Amino acid sequence: MSREKLKKLGLDLPVLPTTTVGSLPKPDYILEARAKYSRGEIKYTELKELELKATEFWVKKQDEIGLDILVDGEIYRGDMVAYFAETMKGFQTGELVRSYGNRYYRKPIISSEIEWCGPITVDWWRYAQSFTAKPVKGMITGPYTVMDWAFNEYYPTRYDATIAIAQEIRKEVEALVAAGARIIQVDEPAISTRLDELPFAREAMDIITEGISAYFICHICYGNFAPVYKHMLSLAVDNLDLETSHRLLALEEFLKDNVFDKDISYGVIDVHQHAIESGDDISSTIRHALTLFNKDTIWIDPDCGLKTRTVDEAITKLTNMQRAVEQVRRKIV
Ligand SMILES: [Zn+2]
Repeated sequence: MSREKLKKLGLDLPVLPTTTVGSLPKPDYILEARAKYSRGEIKYTELKELELKATEFWVKKQDEIGLDILVDGEIYRGDMVAYFAETMKGFQTGELVRSYGNRYYRKPIISSEIEWCGPITVDWWRYAQSFTAKPVKGMITGPYTVMDWAFNEYYPTRYDATIAIAQEIRKEVEALVAAGARIIQVDEPAISTRLDELPFAREAMDIITEGISAYFICHICYGNFAPVYKHMLSLAVDNLDLETSHRLLALEEFLKDNVFDKDISYGVIDVHQHAIESGDDISSTIRHALTLFNKDTIWIDPDCGLKTRTVDEAITKLTNMQRAVEQVRRKIV
């Protein structure tokens, strides 16, 4: 069914389409420029010039590797929630908190009514798309995750905050689609952390996607997957992008008694380790995926964003992934 939807959108993708989850490593010159910018040593225009250069590099690199659906690489973002919070009205910058590992971000505070003040990611999407004939995904941080990773000092409940954020983020989705994006990814890493709040996330996703002519992907990572698979499948999206290689046992257990009736973006690369997966290892992971799902429903990608890897590691991992997919394709088409 989703294949038909993709065709209607003018997207004729090969079997086992390849993509990435969104963030790609920032080259050293970006890390240095960001540090200088935060110390007030350079102007934003100088930083932005370099961000444009790195974005162009990554779009061309993904094309060269042969990936089917590209991303802008999110070079211009610090943290995925703070980035959206800083660009919408209603948030204040909060204190530094730990997100995972040694990563810290400024936890935003919702202090007044949230308002979308104009396109946030559209210019970056358009810029990335200008370098390639392949589709570039529009990338949005989901309303549940924005709510969960912010302090709410304004809305009466977490539910109210989630819905208010969803109504504003829908405007960004509309702006991306109006610019020409046909695939929209909604990142909701926090969705699997609180089973009792899944209905919020589901309602928020309805608000974001309803009546919009695009193919929607929801990326979910962290948390306790097993009890929430069923609920994930009720999200109003076409494709669930999951951290598969860490959750395979739970997923296989789920598939014994349930039908997975969406497309799946199947993670075949561990983004948390330096070690490079060999082409043979990735091929066997893909062949295993083919025993679990219909081949027309599987997309292949890394487990999560690659921003914690080095530029060279990410390129090698993605190249091995692409070669493995091409090898498997030759056997199944
Ligand atoms: Zn992730």
